[in-house]
Amino acid sequence: MNLCHHCGAKVMVRKRQFSDRAWAALVDWGEVRSETMGKALCDNCYVELREILIDRTHEMERIAR
Ligand SMILES: [Zn+2]
Repeated sequence: MNLCHHCGAKVMVRKRQFSDRAWAALVDWGEVRSETMGKALCDNCYVELREILIDRTHEMERIAR
C-alpha cells in the first residue's frame, strides 16, 4: 500500500511518469506541489493531471497561432 503524492489517497500506486517539462508546467500552473514532481500518483490523479496538460497545451497552441 502506498500514498498518492497528489491527493494522499491510500491506493496502489504505480510510478507514472510525466516528462520533466510536463511536471515543471504542472508546478508552474499550481496544479501540483513542487515536492510532488516525479513522485507516484494514483490513477485518478494521473488521468486528471494528464487531461489538464492536454487542455492547457492545446490552449497555448491556439494562443500562439
Ligand atoms: Zn491521487
